Amino acid sequence: MPSMKKIALLGSTGSIGTQTLDVIENIGGKFDVVALAAGHNLEFLRRQIRKFHPKYVCISDEHNANILRTEFSDTEIFFGDNGLVELACLDDVDIVVNAIVGAKGLIPSYRAIDCGKRLCTANKESLVMAGEILTERAKETGAVIFPIDSEHSALFQSMLSGKHSEIKRLILTASGGPFWNKDVDFDKIIPVDALAHPNWSMGQKISIDSATMMNKALEIIEARWLFDIPLEKIDVLIHPQSIVHSIVEFVDGSQIAQLSLPDMRLPIQYALTYPERFESPMKPLDLAEIGNLEFCTPNKDKFPAIDLAYRVLTDGGNSPIILNTVNELAVESFLMGEIKFSQIVRFVIQALDEIPKSSVSSLDDILSADRVASEWFEKRIRNR
Ligand code: NAD
Ligand code: MG
Repeated sequence: MPSMKKIALLGSTGSIGTQTLDVIENIGGKFDVVALAAGHNLEFLRRQIRKFHPKYVCISDEHNANILRTEFSDTEIFFGDNGLVELACLDDVDIVVNAIVGAKGLIPSYRAIDCGKRLCTANKESLVMAGEILTERAKETGAVIFPIDSEHSALFQSMLSGKHSEIKRLILTASGGPFWNKDVDFDKIIPVDALAHPNWSMGQKISIDSATMMNKALEIIEARWLFDIPLEKIDVLIHPQSIVHSIVEFVDGSQIAQLSLPDMRLPIQYALTYPERFESPMKPLDLAEIGNLEFCTPNKDKFPAIDLAYRVLTDGGNSPIILNTVNELAVESFLMGEIKFSQIVRFVIQALDEIPKSSVSSLDDILSADRVASEWFEKRIRNR
């Protein structure tokens, strides 16, 4: 029997994390969960430890780590950022799944790549902040970066039908989130409305990113680096049913797409098992039942976030980091009721206008650009 692939799952208690464990359970006998890491949900993590018996665990704070140490004497318990770094580079791990939300995912992704692991990443923020550095380092270490994001999984699958040099255009589909076709006042949107995505059930941050369509900006940047495709060859198409997950157009005019019902377990499974495919318990797609698929161009006046991807990639340097950091902090502020929905993207634009440009050539430069952008935001929030 072929040996089981050993997995470290970072962000195990979140939406992608729990679905990754579902996939591993469903597929049975192929993957061994060697390490789990989570933020603050102690009770949920405890249940996962009882079920999957990982050798290593990491939790954000030391106090919780001490509690787990008393309960699980056979498990090595780490905590904090250093713990995440340890888990991303364990000798007895083949695949690191990064399902952490936000900029916190950057260093673990870098570390996994540094150690030559197969990195299956849902964490798009790390690629937005450091796409060039991560992909260049992967070339040096032989690490493979595999997308979990459904659009990027679709692009990867569609690309298999032609050569890289034959790609004319990547077309990222976007559901448009809850507001794309609604006449709503963006000043009056409250978190519960913005969190109610029509097709996907996801973590809070990505749900808000979908509502502002900043998610698509992040995904354009993610695609640019993952697939080494120039910016001008990446387009966005609104597709409210989320059945066509993205499209690759080749030079001869053929467009190849990947279709399935919206269920993240499919791209997660593919990322884990590629180049093989296995049966899955997911509901099959019945196009006759769906009936109609709609497509239209995005309204960029209503959703100015989309074009910010082109702006920050053209500007380069610290710009993508400013976009990512200020967006993340603004989303948190919106969820805490501190700012309006309409201010999320406005703050990002203001930060890009005001923060001086700087060049970025190392991970330290990125972390310092992240600090500058955080300080800018904190000042703006305090001085309102
Ligand atoms: P989530 O909020 O549901 O889960 C986040 C996970 O990260 C949790 O397990 C949390 O405990 C963990 N975490 C947070 N801070 C941590 C820390 N300091 N140390 C260790 N763990 C920490 O988020 P999600 O929706 O699962 O999204 C995760 C990532 O996947 C995001 O980058 C998101 O954009 C991307 N993504 C998600 C979906 C989806 O359907 N949910 C789809 C595509 C891409
Ligand atoms: Mg996506």
